[in-house]
Amino acid sequence: RTVYVNGHFVPENEAEISVFDRGFLFADAIYEVTAVLNGRMVGFDGHMARLRRSLRELEMGLPTSDQRLREIHLELIDKNALQEGLVYMQVSRGAADRDFAYPAPGTPASLVMFTQEKSIIDSPVAERGLKIASLPDMRWSRRDIKTVQLLYPSMAKMEAKKRGADDAWLVESGLVTEGTSSNAWIVDNDNTLVTRELSRALLHGITRATVMALANSHDMKVEERGFTIKEAQNAREAFVTSSTALVHPVVAIDERPVGDGTPGPFARELRRLYIEASLNSAD
Ligand code: PLP
Repeated sequence: RTVYVNGHFVPENEAEISVFDRGFLFADAIYEVTAVLNGRMVGFDGHMARLRRSLRELEMGLPTSDQRLREIHLELIDKNALQEGLVYMQVSRGAADRDFAYPAPGTPASLVMFTQEKSIIDSPVAERGLKIASLPDMRWSRRDIKTVQLLYPSMAKMEAKKRGADDAWLVESGLVTEGTSSNAWIVDNDNTLVTRELSRALLHGITRATVMALANSHDMKVEERGFTIKEAQNAREAFVTSSTALVHPVVAIDERPVGDGTPGPFARELRRLYIEASLNSAD
């Protein structure tokens, strides 16, 4: 693979990043993952807007224009002949002597990007659905900032697998916040799509926003509010959204089937609509 590191396109085994990089030492870094379908990016503007927001919230600089970031993405897709998969972009506060205080202004940010092939549209999970285990949400309280502090979500995913599930939904004060790397949805007994309202408690998913817009334009009811694991278990359907899962049905939560225990019609239809819209609007 060809990867991008601080201004250079290099073979992945020649890419270098400082051992003093604050992303490495402090998880002082943010990232975005943009899906690529048919060689084109899905929702890039949304990912850029969220990147800028994360940068602002952390007072982190990145002297590279949105236009240049787009060009680097496109060049990487081209150099790696990527048809389907993702582009990962990470910005860290750069390299400096190890100190909890931020380095002096002017310390250059580190910018890293790479591509990863992944089968997204043709997904076995879309057919069989996900089994979910619920776990306490022990992450920090600014989950709206997309930082690389991913250890707890990683631990939660492993614990879910130990319990025979595919992934975890994280619960705080009795309500589901989100999945380890996805937003959580249910379809209630009134056929209303329910997903938690935006706040600092969860990531403001780009796919969540697109699915919500699609649902609205197809006369599906949407409500933004928290829900419990019990409500999800008793819902008609449950599903998750993310850039690389798109829409994945959830068929069981804590070993209880959701609905009839198979992927439901709303999840199927939203996945179809999302793929159709993405293939038409990708850039
Ligand atoms: N929630 C978390 C914690 C995530 O890591 C992600 C990213 O995949 C999402 C939600 C979904 O966000 P998006 O739809 O922007 O990929």
